[in-house]
This record gives sequence, structure tokens and C-alpha cells, in this order.
Amino acid sequence: MSDPVDVRKALASWVGYLGEIGVRELDLGRAAPPLAAPPLEAPPGEAPPRPPAGLAAIRETIGDCRRCKLCEARTNIVFGVGNPDAELMFVGEGPGADEDARGEPFVGRAGQKLNEMIRSIGLTREQVYIANVVKCRPPGNRDPEPDEVATCSPFLFAQIEAIAPKVIVALGSPATKTLLGTRSGITALRGKWGSFRGVPVMPTFHPAYLLRAYTHENRKLVYEDLKAARARIDESR
Ligand code: URA
Repeated sequence: MSDPVDVRKALASWVGYLGEIGVRELDLGRAAPPLAAPPLEAPPGEAPPRPPAGLAAIRETIGDCRRCKLCEARTNIVFGVGNPDAELMFVGEGPGADEDARGEPFVGRAGQKLNEMIRSIGLTREQVYIANVVKCRPPGNRDPEPDEVATCSPFLFAQIEAIAPKVIVALGSPATKTLLGTRSGITALRGKWGSFRGVPVMPTFHPAYLLRAYTHENRKLVYEDLKAARARIDESR
């Protein structure tokens, strides 16, 4: 069972976030049920969750990758994190300095914002899966270049196939362009459903952009996109 102090903290953070984006009323009677994704640890007496065989095989194939120039300055390959059976998957562009140091996606400031975004729709980081288009840090946090995306994106595509999420949220332009095969930017595409190999894709602003352009309007738009993603999952049951 969750530590009650943590539950209070999570609730306070969630309510604070909703307040920030302008939500003034909560209809708790219609609160969405928790996602069906199994917890990472099975309750006593129940079968453990499916081991991430597909994901483990993909990670093994990546190995100590030297396939593109991003390998030269990286510290760690940042493969992905979360529930291998996730119904909801988030895709960012590539690791930053914190992620490169820790080997885990979205652990810096943008990661804290992403965690808030996830909590705003009643989920936790552990219930979803988080990955990036490129697995090694682009120097100076520049966007990944076309040859790097071309080399690395097949691993993301394989992760998506292995996880088979019901919905993907694409965070920012590089993720949206990679998944939807489009040249349009995030401003044109956010909030509009696309599809990657039959999986619905909701493009939204990257949490790092949200931190830079922290307007009420932007926060509200992201919340709308996330709610649409959550609703689509709930409707699919
Ligand atoms: N930005 C991303 O796109 N991915 C990360 O993992 C961290 C920051």
C-alpha cells in the first residue's frame, strides 16, 4: 500500500497543477478509474507481470552502440523506463545532461514537469513507459540530426511494437515528426490525433517548452491533450 504521506504529497501536487492550468472544479463522482495496467510487482499469490523479453532483446541489440556520432560524447545509453505493458507511452526527443548522467529518460527539470503532466491525468510514472527518439545525448541539447534519427528510431519503433501501447503521446516536434513521418511542426499538429502503425498518437508540447513558455494557455492546451489521450484509453476498454 502507498505511504499515506506520499499520497498526500501526490494529491497536493496534482491539485496544485490543476489550479495552475485553470481547473476550478473537480467532478469526483466521474473520476476516471485507474488504468488497467498491472503494477510492476505482483500481489502475493498472483503470477508476476510478463517479463520485458521484447524490450530486453532490443536493449541487447543496441549493445554498446557506435552506430552514429552521438556515441562519441555520451556517458550512458538512455534506453527507456516504465511499465513494459503500459497502455500509455510518452516519446521525447533525446536525453539531456541529467539523463545522460543517470541513464534514464526525463529525470531533470523537464522530467519533473513530465511527472506532473502524468499525474494530472491520474497516472504515475511507473504505470506508463517513457522513451526517446535517440538514445544518446545530442551535444549541447541540440535537436537530433536526420542521420541520427534514421539510425536510432528503429529501436524506438521496436520498443513501441514490444509494448503495444493503446496511445502514444509525442512530446515536441522531433518526436512528432519521427512518429508521424511529417515535416509539420508541433504548433500545427498538437492536439490533433495521428497514428503510428495503427497506434493513436497525440502530439503535445514538450515539457521543456512548457517550462520556457509557462503560460496559462500552454498549460491548458497540454492538459487538454493529455485528457484526450486518457479518454481514448478509457474508451478502448
Ligand atoms: N528531453 C527529452 O526529450 N528527453 C529526455 O529524456 C529528457 C529531456
